[in-house]
Amino acid sequence: KVSSLEPREDHRICVCVRKRPLNQRETTMKDLDVITIPSDNVVMVHESKQKVDLTRYLENQTFCFDHAFDDTASNELVYQFTAQPLVESIFRKGMATCFAYGQTGSGKTHTMGGAFSGRDQDCSKGIYALVARDVFLLLQTAAYEKLGLKVYGTFFEIYGGKVYDLLNLKKKLQVLEDGNQQVQVVGLQEQEVCCVEDVLNLVELGNSCRTSGQTSVNAHSSRSHAVFQIILKSGGKLHGKFSLVDLAGNERGADTAKANRKRQLEGAEINKSLLALKECIRALGQNKSHTPFRASKLTQVLRDSFIGQNSSTCMIATISPGMASCENTLNTLRYANRVK
Ligand code: ADP
Ligand code: MG
Repeated sequence: KVSSLEPREDHRICVCVRKRPLNQRETTMKDLDVITIPSDNVVMVHESKQKVDLTRYLENQTFCFDHAFDDTASNELVYQFTAQPLVESIFRKGMATCFAYGQTGSGKTHTMGGAFSGRDQDCSKGIYALVARDVFLLLQTAAYEKLGLKVYGTFFEIYGGKVYDLLNLKKKLQVLEDGNQQVQVVGLQEQEVCCVEDVLNLVELGNSCRTSGQTSVNAHSSRSHAVFQIILKSGGKLHGKFSLVDLAGNERGADTAKANRKRQLEGAEINKSLLALKECIRALGQNKSHTPFRASKLTQVLRDSFIGQNSSTCMIATISPGMASCENTLNTLRYANRVK
């Protein structure tokens, strides 16, 4: 079965898939790696219907993307094919967005470099830091130096349809639309940054804020979207913006049935926002008159990235290799396949 191998027509969205290695737990449980990346843009899922014979693959599914990265790919390589081509656009007044989409534990935060939790952990090679590195490099080039741009960072979380400022003690913020249909997160902290180190400090600060009062980092991050933005301003006015979005885990449905009421509501909210995101991204490439960005807080907040001629988007769909994750992996690949 081949799911859409035809070439894409527009290039406003780039969709890539990244497979992570089997982890210790999966290896111990003798989980099998059921994902192969036969070429740099094809992902194959070897879905066995017959668990008694684990070595026999009864069904293969093939998906084609702009790029597919196997478990040996570095963050730098993934970055080169996803966010890096969009960085310069923000110097030309563009709005760029990079999403990490996938099941909890599949590598979204690892890819973004958002797990910064102390000096011993090296997140200087995640996409947050790599975008920052290139922004500061471009800032010093002859073409852009004269624009007198300043760089700011914001970091917030969307949980249960509400926005919380991760740079300001998780303060709950209102989202307003003004008469010009500009969307504003009122009171969102914009912190000026002058180097990559400054950006990493913001990530660290936001992270400590994100997880405070929570039982575990992953338990919480799986249910909220984290948005890190690098903003260029000229004379106090917005010039360009790069939004880096570490989405909530997409593994819903199966766990909502047995979950309590609170979890069910959370799950419904996440489903709603990921569905709205898919619709908005699809509308992006199709010159539609209507983009349903109001359907969720996530898409509403990212409105300026979904409209206008100068917006560009990439998505990194992260997948786990194990057979135990197969159903979630297929859901991730189908979703990614729909937005490309
Ligand atoms: P998510 O944010 O999607 O829930 P994480 O990024 O936290 O997942 O990844 C889960 C675990 O797997 C982490 O310990 C992380 O370091 C590891 N991991 C994820 N992707 C990779 C990769 N490509 N290479 C090595 N380790 C990875
Ligand atoms: Mg995470």
